[in-house]
Amino acid sequence: MKVLKFGGTSVGSAKKIEKITEIIHARMPVFVILSAMAGTTDALAGLAGDVTNGQKGTARKSVRDLKKVYGRTITRLLGDDAKEAQFYADAIFNGISNNIEQSPSAKIEREILSCGEKLSTFLFHQLLLKKGYYAVLLDATVLLPLGANHEPVMDEIKKRLQVEFDKHPKAQIFITQGFVCGNERGEVDNLGRGGSDYSASIFGAAMGAEEIQIWTDIDGVQNNDPRIVENTRPVRHLMFDEAAELAYFGAKILHPLTILPAQKANIPVLLKNTMQPDEPGTRIAASHRGKGFKAVAARDEITAIKIKSSRMLMAYGFIRKVFEVFEKYKTPIDMITTSEVAVSVTIDNCKYLSGIVEELQQFGKVEVENDKTIVGVVGHLIADEPGYARQLFGALEDIPIRMISYGASPHNISLLVNTEDKIRTLRALNSKLFHN
Ligand code: ASP
Ligand code: MG
Repeated sequence: MKVLKFGGTSVGSAKKIEKITEIIHARMPVFVILSAMAGTTDALAGLAGDVTNGQKGTARKSVRDLKKVYGRTITRLLGDDAKEAQFYADAIFNGISNNIEQSPSAKIEREILSCGEKLSTFLFHQLLLKKGYYAVLLDATVLLPLGANHEPVMDEIKKRLQVEFDKHPKAQIFITQGFVCGNERGEVDNLGRGGSDYSASIFGAAMGAEEIQIWTDIDGVQNNDPRIVENTRPVRHLMFDEAAELAYFGAKILHPLTILPAQKANIPVLLKNTMQPDEPGTRIAASHRGKGFKAVAARDEITAIKIKSSRMLMAYGFIRKVFEVFEKYKTPIDMITTSEVAVSVTIDNCKYLSGIVEELQQFGKVEVENDKTIVGVVGHLIADEPGYARQLFGALEDIPIRMISYGASPHNISLLVNTEDKIRTLRALNSKLFHN
């Protein structure tokens, strides 16, 4: 069985929901995971924020607005057979209205946030039933439990899926909510914004799916940022590690956690465009295809911290002490470079910066620089094959580079540049690495 996940824009209107039934029809039997219709989770998050801030009137108005939008969508989608869906939507919006009147809590907020996916999956299920499919709607709150550490409990997910598959051996389509899950207290929870890709990877891994397909409105992963660089092109093949690097660097297409469960279970992930289903998209798998540079992505709002100390000279244990400070403040380090007397690291979360700096000062002189960008160059870049570094630095000869990380992974070279040089850097890499 294949897992197919459709993002918010792919289910963004009655017409688009119709369209994805064609995609699904051609691939049955399938396990379908849906996001909320585009804009719904944002609206719900705004509404939940209003509730927290005591602005109940604004929240009530948002519910009325959403209800109207859904009323129209349901009529468009289901015509004369809309009764059950209207009834369900009313129940959902009544639930939200009740939540608004209670004293605000994190639990209420999570309940509100889950409503978008509940609505999209219910409507879609109704449409499939109307069209005569044997389709089963499943509740992700039950199907995807998280453990105490907020990680999916894979064994339990496997068992619960199998129970459903055994109940419906002839079903052509199973549908469930992305993003939504249950926590260890059995309450509704979620996997974080953008988390429905992660749901797809978790479910795909748990059922040992043949493939996990992520359907969005872009034609796969692009080799550079199309908002900045002209003539980008889709990358057809990526290894799991390459995709994970790109996701971190902010190639917007995938939630960064998505790759992990699929990679562990060795299930290929295919990124496809709902508007152009015949295009090949990007395939992410364990094996590598092609050599050399494949894609470039950039991540902004990076802070570089340099600790300079002559005590580091020929000493051991120094870097451990430095790292312990970051561990204490639960702040991940992204890039690291060292010399005999200095160590530079980058972080993307400055919440505890002042505490970190204060503690680092006991080891030496500390310098902090903001407004940096990490440019991640991804590909099959085996360090012992000559030429990659020359090609890369040749492309960037006029651009000041603050840090370089090369050789840690055969799939990535990271460069730290000033954010003001980012556009120049991406354009230079595009013309010199991909269009020569
Ligand atoms: N609907 C959720 C969000 O907008 C989850 C998702 O679409 O991935 O964040
Ligand atoms: Mg998404």
